Amino acid sequence: AHLNRIDAVDEKVRAFLHVDREGALAAARSVDERRARGERLGPLAGVPLALKDIFTTKGVPTTVGSRILRGWVPPYDATVTRRLKEAGVVILGKTNMDEFAMGSSTENSAFGPTGNPWDLTRIPGGSGGGSSAALASYQAPLAIGTDTGGSIRQPAAVTGTVGVKPTYGGVSRYGMVAFSSSLDQGGPCARTVLDAALLHEVMAGHDPLDSTSIDAPVPPVVEAARRADVRGMRIGVVKEFVGQDYQAGVKERFTEAVELLRELGAEVLEISCPSFTYALPAYYLIAPSEASSNLARFDAMRYGLRVGDDGTHSAEEVTALTREAGFGPEVKRRIMLGTYALSSGYYDAYYGQAQKVRTVVTRDFAAAFEQVDVLVSPTTPTTAFPIGERVDDPMAMYLADLFTIPANLAGNAAMSVPCGLAREDGLPVGLQIIAPTMADDRLYRVGGAVE
Ligand code: GLN
Repeated sequence: AHLNRIDAVDEKVRAFLHVDREGALAAARSVDERRARGERLGPLAGVPLALKDIFTTKGVPTTVGSRILRGWVPPYDATVTRRLKEAGVVILGKTNMDEFAMGSSTENSAFGPTGNPWDLTRIPGGSGGGSSAALASYQAPLAIGTDTGGSIRQPAAVTGTVGVKPTYGGVSRYGMVAFSSSLDQGGPCARTVLDAALLHEVMAGHDPLDSTSIDAPVPPVVEAARRADVRGMRIGVVKEFVGQDYQAGVKERFTEAVELLRELGAEVLEISCPSFTYALPAYYLIAPSEASSNLARFDAMRYGLRVGDDGTHSAEEVTALTREAGFGPEVKRRIMLGTYALSSGYYDAYYGQAQKVRTVVTRDFAAAFEQVDVLVSPTTPTTAFPIGERVDDPMAMYLADLFTIPANLAGNAAMSVPCGLAREDGLPVGLQIIAPTMADDRLYRVGGAVE
C-alpha cells in the first residue's frame, strides 16, 4: 500500500531519491516468514520506513544529497540500518536532503528540492525535508533523520510531524555520513509521539563501533509516551527566545501550548539562558570547521565520482576537479569557512572562541535544569517559507535554526511536536521541548501531553 502511495504522489512531493521496491517487498515477506516460524518480533516488525539518504545501506545507493557520491553503493549497513532490519522494519527507500545535511530547506540537494505536502510551493524544512515530507504525505508512517543544528526538528515543525533529536551519543553514528561529528545525531521521525518512541527504542542504545556512543540503558521513552502525564513537572520558557521578533501566528500557538501544559498540571517558569543568543554564530564556526575536516575524505580515490581520470591529469588534479564538480555551493562555502577558522593565526579568534561559547551554553543548560525538568520554545521562528525565498541569502537560511542549535551544542535531547496551525497562513507550528542529557523520556511525557 505504501509503495502504491509513493507511485501516486511522489512525482509531486519528491521526497524519495531512491525507492527500493524489491528490497522493501523482500523485507516484508521475510517478516511474514519469521512470524510463521513462531519468532517473536517487536512492535515495528513489518512497518514501512523512509530512511534519510545519509545512512549507509548495503547494496542500496547512498548519496547524502551530493553529486560527489554518484554511483557509490555502500558495502555495509550503518548501525541504525542494521537495527531497523533486525527489528523487521521495512525500509522503503532513501529520502532527499540538503547536500551533506547543510541547509534548512532541502533546496541544497544536488537532486532538486522536495515540496511541503501542505503547500508544494513551500519548503519541507531541512536538511531532512525528504523524511518529513514522506511522513506528511502518508508515503511512510515512520522516518529517520539526523540533527546537527535542527535538521530533524525544523522539518518536523514545518510539516506538522514529530521529530526527536536524542541525547548526543544516544544513537550510533556508525555508517551515518559525517557532517559535524561532535553535533550530528540520528533520531526518529513520525506522525505521533508514541510512534516516535517505538522507533527511538529500536534505533538507540550503545554501539562499540561509535566511540562517542553512551554505554547506558535507553531512557524509558515508550512508557513515557504512553503515560503522557505532565502533572507536577516544572517547565521552563526560555526568556531569550520569547524576546525575539518572530511570526505572530507562531508565537500565538506557542503561548497556547504553554497554557495547555499549565492546565494539565505543570508548573511554568520563565528561565534565562543569556548565552543562547551567541549559539548560532558559534555553531556556524564549529560545524563548518568539523565539516572541512570530515569532507577531506572525498578525494575522488575512495568513493563515488571521479572527474579527469583520463591519463592527462595528476592525482592532485583529479581530486581538485572532482571536488569542484562534485560539491555544491553551500558545501564549498562551509569548507572554505571551516578551513579559514581552523587555520593557524585564526584558530584562537574563531574556533577557540566558538568552543568557549559552547561551554557557556552548556553551563546555561545545567543551571536551567537545576530549576526545571524541561525547557520549551517554538521550534522555528516562522512557518514553512516559499521555495526560493532564501536561496540567495545564507544568513536568512541560517536563522531557521535559531532555537534548535543550543541543544546540539550542549548535546541535550530535544523534540518538536505539532501545536496547531498559524492563523495567518494555515501552516503547521512546532513546539520544541528540550531535556537534560539522557532524560529523553521527559520529551515524550511532555510531547504526548501536547499532541
Ligand atoms: N540548518 C543547519 C545547517 O545548515 C542544521 C543542519 C542539520 O541539522 N544537519 O547546518
